[in-house]
This record gives sequence, structure tokens and C-alpha cells, in this order.
Amino acid sequence: MSPRGKTALICGVSGQDGTYLAKMLLERGYKVHGASRDAQASSFANLRRLGLIDSVHLESLNITDFRSALQALRRVNPDEVYNLAGQSSVALSFDQPVETLESISVGTLNLLEAIRFTDRPIRFYNAGSGECFGDTRTPADENTAFRPRSPYAVAKAAAHWEVANYAEAYGLYACTGILFNHESPLRAERYVTRKIVAAACRISRGSDERLSLGNLDVQRDWGWAPEYVEAMWMMLQQENPETYVIATGHSHRLEEFVERAFAEVDLQWRDHVDIDERLYRPADITFASANPTRANERLGWKAKAGMREVVAMMTAAELAENAG
Ligand code: NDP
Repeated sequence: MSPRGKTALICGVSGQDGTYLAKMLLERGYKVHGASRDAQASSFANLRRLGLIDSVHLESLNITDFRSALQALRRVNPDEVYNLAGQSSVALSFDQPVETLESISVGTLNLLEAIRFTDRPIRFYNAGSGECFGDTRTPADENTAFRPRSPYAVAKAAAHWEVANYAEAYGLYACTGILFNHESPLRAERYVTRKIVAAACRISRGSDERLSLGNLDVQRDWGWAPEYVEAMWMMLQQENPETYVIATGHSHRLEEFVERAFAEVDLQWRDHVDIDERLYRPADITFASANPTRANERLGWKAKAGMREVVAMMTAAELAENAG
């Protein structure tokens, strides 16, 4: 069934996921409105990079301000709202816990309340996070308890329960996707995956810099961001709103990621990397592993790219961008 004619509002369109989601929805015939806190000031570099800047209707919306959220919903009149906005760095959340909590937990609540005020059957997707589970001894699924280990994860856990509560109490079609790490060339360099790939590529081009990293023993489940936005959309096309864990189902040590990234450019990582304990977090997740069976079975969604493919694609993009 073609969803032609539908309107979507993406909060956080300037980010990695917002940009890939905008691309995917435009390809499906949606009218796409994309919101940034200040659409006049934002460069929308990612939208420009993918050639989407003239196809997305840009809006100013600060989700921490209820009035702003309500006005945007009334203006745009969307069928679907995707909440991808908020302070998204786990590391930064230790330094900016209040900003993190407000932008994620209060922001999500404002959007839910604004949807109630509009009294329209808007479908709402909320960007949850595998960080909510904390350390996972066995692969986490939708029934695994949350044990958040950072202000970011605490905020995401609160937002998760806000969404579940509004779906149950008010009958909203609102759901959370619990996504594990997903990467792409659109990741900012503050994130360790992009930092590693960018440094390896610079060193391969002759830079004599050293790459400083924190704990390489942590394990993560890394997937490919363009595939993950498909899952977000699928979640809003079901009969009922449900929580889904979205991940590849395969975890790797950060050291493996580093090793692969340097191997892609024919280098030995040990020759170029320093461990800096100042980069360790106050509390960190050692094992993050996921069980995405529900998404596989009910949505028909399955990750195609694993860690090796993700590293290869990020490296190819980095080298292509800096060629010539
Ligand atoms: P990005 O950081 O790339 O984008 C997030 C967007 O949120 C930004 O474009 C920014 O838009 C907006 N934003 C940033 N800080 C704030 C703030 N303090 N208050 C309000 N808005 C803010 O994130 P991703 O695209 O990678 O992720 C999308 C969502 O998915 C996020 O909520 C993230 O936490 C979550 N997530 C991501 C995962 C991943 O691996 N990428 C894993 C699990 C969850 P602007 O500056 O234009 O207002």
C-alpha cells in the first residue's frame, strides 16, 4: 500500500537519523517537515550533503517548549511525528545532565501533550535507546528491565515510560524503538566510531597524529543507520503501537572496531592509538547485546550490515569525501 499523500514531521531532522529518515520518507512520497530548534540558524549540513535541503519543509521547533511544540503541530498537521531530537551523546550527558534530561524527557512529554491537544490521530515514534538496559548479561529484548548507567540513559528510560503511559492511558498510537548503536558517515566526530574512522583515514593520508581513545574493552552492537530508519517507519505502520528492540544481534569489542578501521586503510592500529584513561566515563556499559527477534518476526525487519560492513562503508565515504 502506498502511503502517498501522508505528511510527516521529523523533530531533529538535522541529525544523522533525521536526515536518513527524511530521505526515506521523501522516497515513499511523504510530504516531509523537518524541525530544528532554530531553522534560521541551523546549517542543515547533513540535508545539504544528501541533496535534500530543497525537498524538506524546515520548521523551528524547540521540544522543551510546549507552546512551540503545539504551534508546530497545528501548522504542519502531520499524520506521523518522529521524535529524534534531544541531547544524544552519552559522554556529554555526564557534563550536561539537566540539558539532557530536559531535552529528552521533558521534550518527549511536551510532544505527547501537544498531540493530545490537537485531538488528531497522529502516530508518534520516539527514539529510545539500548543504553537504557545498562550492562546486558544476556541479549536484551523488549521485556528486559532497564538499568540505565548514564544521565542520557535515565532520560531515555523516562521518555520510554512516558510514551508507554500515554499510549495506554489515552489510546495514542505512540511507540518507542529501542535502538542500539547505528552509524554512518553523517555521525558527528564527537562519536567514537566516526572519530576512529576519520583519524585512521587522516593517518593513511600522511598525518602523524596519535588517536586517543578510552576503554577499548566495551562491547557494542553496531548497525547501519539508513537501515534503522526503515524500522522506525515500519513501527508506525502496524495495527497497534509496540516497543521494538532494533539491533544487529551481534556485539563486538571497541578494539575490534578500531582494528577493522585501521585495517581498511592498511594500517596496524597499535602503531597509532593511545589509551587515555581521562576518556573513561564515570560509569560505562561493558556489555551491550541485543535480541531483535520481535522486529525480525513482526516487522520483517532485519539488519543487513554488521560491524565490518559499517566500518567499510564509513571508511569508503571518508576517503571519497577527502579525495582530491
Ligand atoms: P543527532 O545528535 O545526530 O541528532 C539529534 C538532533 O537533536 C540534532 O540534530 C539537534 O537538532 C537536536 N538536539 C541536539 N541537542 C538538543 C537539545 N539539547 N535539545 C533539543 N534538541 C537537541 O542524533 P542521531 O540522529 O544519531 O539520533 C537520533 C535520536 O536517536 C536521538 O534521540 C538519539 O539519542 C537516539 N539514538 C541514537 C542512536 C545512535 O546510535 N545514533 C542509538 C539510540 C538512540 P537541532 O540542533 O537542529 O535542533
